[in-house]
Formats: sequence, C-alpha cells, structure tokens
Amino acid sequence: MADTGIDHNGFNVSSKKRSGSDDQWDREDFIAAKKAMKPMIREDPAAALSNARHEFGEHGGVNMSIEASATFTVMEPETMRRMFSGELGPDRDFFIYSRHFNPTVLNLGRLMASLEGTEAAYCTASGMSAISSVLLQLCSSGGHVVASNTLDHEMVREAITEGKTKVLYFESMSNPTLTVANVPELCRIAHDKGVLVVVDNTFAPTVLSPARLGADVVVHSISKYISGGADIIAGAICGPASLVNAMMDLHQGALMLLGPTMNPKVAFELSERIPHLSLRMKEHCNRALVYATRMKKLGLKVIYPGLEDHPDHFILKSLANKDYGYGGILCVDMETEERANRLMNLLQNCTQFGFMAVSLGYYETLMSCSGSSTSSELNAEEKALAGISPGLVRMSIGYSGTLEQKWSQLEKALSRLK
Ligand SMILES: *Cc1c(COP(=O)(O)O)cnc(C)c1O
Repeated sequence: MADTGIDHNGFNVSSKKRSGSDDQWDREDFIAAKKAMKPMIREDPAAALSNARHEFGEHGGVNMSIEASATFTVMEPETMRRMFSGELGPDRDFFIYSRHFNPTVLNLGRLMASLEGTEAAYCTASGMSAISSVLLQLCSSGGHVVASNTLDHEMVREAITEGKTKVLYFESMSNPTLTVANVPELCRIAHDKGVLVVVDNTFAPTVLSPARLGADVVVHSISKYISGGADIIAGAICGPASLVNAMMDLHQGALMLLGPTMNPKVAFELSERIPHLSLRMKEHCNRALVYATRMKKLGLKVIYPGLEDHPDHFILKSLANKDYGYGGILCVDMETEERANRLMNLLQNCTQFGFMAVSLGYYETLMSCSGSSTSSELNAEEKALAGISPGLVRMSIGYSGTLEQKWSQLEKALSRLK
C-alpha cells in the first residue's frame, strides 16, 4: 500500500473546526515558527527531486500506475464516516473522491514539494486557479493583498496595513522586464508585520527556490517550464502541509470547494517530465546567456539578468541555486513596435529561429511583443512605469537544434533588419 506521506510531521485531512477568528488558517503560529527557524540549507533542486519517494506501478512497472477513478470504494460502511471525520486520510491510503485528494495528483504534488523545498504541495487545473485559490484561502472578507510589479521595498512597507493585509504577493522574476525580487528582504518586511508571502516562481523553477529564501507559499504555472511541452495547462501550490490540508478541507477548503481539479492522467504525464526539468532549465539558461551576451556585443539593447548591466544581476547571483544560470528568458528592446514586428517576422518566417507565440518554457524559442500582447492590459503610462517599451520583444529561449545553428539564424535575421 502506498505511503502518501507528504508531511513528515503527520499529514492528515482533518476537518477540524477552525477557531473563532476570521482567519482561515493559523498564520500567527506559522509566522512565529518561521521567524524562529534557522536559515535553510540551499539544496540543489535536482538532488531534492531525486530524494523524493519513487512510486512504482501496480504490477512492478518502473512508472507509477494512473489512478483514473473519480470515486473510491470502501470495504466497510463505517470507513466512510471515519474518512469524512478526518480520521482516515490519504496518508494511510484512504481516498474519497478525486476533487479531493487523488493518488496520482498527490504524487505530482509530492514532486513539486521536493522541487520547491516545501512540506507539501497540491496541483491544480491551471496556474491562475492555483493563484486565485491560495489568495481566497488566505484572505477572509476584507483582507488585503499587497502586490506590485515594482518591488520598491519602502513602497511595499507603506502599502502594508498591519492587521488588514494578509498577503504580500510577487513574482520571483517578473514578466517581462525580468526584475528579480529580493525574496529574503521582502519576506522580512512582510513577516515583521504578520503578513504571509506568496511567490510566483513560474519564470525561474530550479533557478530560484523562494521557499528556501523565506517565502511561505510558492505558486507555479506548470504550463510553462515544468511542463515544457506547451501542450498542458496546469498549476501548483507549494507550502506548509497545514495550508495544503486546509485548502483541501472537505467542508471549507478553497481547493476542495472551488474545484480547479487536475485530471490524474495529466498529473501522470507531468510527473514523467519533472525528472528532466533541471537538464532542460540548464540548457534554456545557458543559451539565453550566450545569446544575450552576443546580442549586447552587436550593440542591441538587451535585458537579461545574467548580464552585469542588469540592475538585479548581483542580487540574482546571490540568491540563485548554483550552476543553473540566470533564467531562460531575455528581452530585446527594438524601440518601436514596427521594428519589433519586423524582427519577429524575420525570425519566424525567414530564418526559422523561433515562433511568434505567447507563453514560455517550450523547447522551441517563443517570441512576443509584450506591450501589444501579454502586457496589453496596461495603459501607456503604466507600461512606461513598468519599463515596457513598445518595441520590447520577449524571447523564451528554446534548446532545439544546436546553439550555433540557432545563433546563426538569429544573426541572419538581425543583419537583414538593417
Ligand atoms: C502563465 C503564467 C501564469 C498563469 O498560468 P496559467 O497556467 O496560464 O493559468 C501565472 N503567472 C505567470 C508568471 C505566468 O507566466
């Protein structure tokens, strides 16, 4: 029988009634424990993943079996009551219904928890549903969330209203200007005021480990690097077991009741890709650094945190996991939308360097003009403030072909542009 053990300290799906406070989760206890904690050792995410328990198939297969059932049967009628009371749970291989815990989805959650160095994790049908459910779980009616694309520490401090603000939310590496968050410092500011920190690490899995740097919760759009195939929409919430359990509470949990459930067949598919995530990330990052360095030499205006002229280069260097690099995304500022579009057209339709498409983390290079696509909800002033020029081309650097073959395609397009 499988041991689901996602929590060494006694994981359970207890539906214990909450205390009288309007807080849906015992944040005070958690923050107090967090402050008392010694800084965590920086473990290589690949090593952490390889230490996660390997799940074999029902017949001894090297891959686990897919538990494709929506509902689960019991041997005795009494078991049902005991499961609903929280006495029997997935830690002892008791499952109820797949909108609640499903073994295959739980196994992917276990891999995500290892990847991010959190106690537990659970996966959802999209990155957005992971983000919205965690915020709904952590904020009761009237609760504040402080979120910003400019991570000025003084402004963050001023924006927090003690008692009212529940969550500080930010991206570890932001879209599209690749600003790197000083995670330890932002956590210090938030925790001092009793605020929890939720970090979106979609742009930098393996490169940054926000939970090891002090964040309480890490959310992911698995649709990007972790999937790597640009064929699946999925998300994850990585955090303390008490939070994951509260979100899955049968009577009050945000994940259980809102229902952004991941299909176990999708969970299986994704769990087969996580073992090569670190290899893929290293090559995405390696090529992004080489191309950014060479493009800069050609006189282009390149934004890449691996370059020393990027304002956050040194903070990234100090926070990043060793040997993973500086991320797989770079931006090139072509000044005008017209020049940006001409470059992308050449790169896709003449030299086959990449595809014009939003999203990131695919094995082919994906390019989009941020101002007129993924950041088009901002007005001109907001774009200027966020450093998004109309000619900014975001490139998620792929690893297909050889580095030099792809570079020559990029160079050829650039020379034709002149
Ligand atoms: C894509 C993305 C999301 C949304 O994820 P979906 O899986 O598309 O719902 C959230 N945050 C970041 C940083 C993203 O890139």
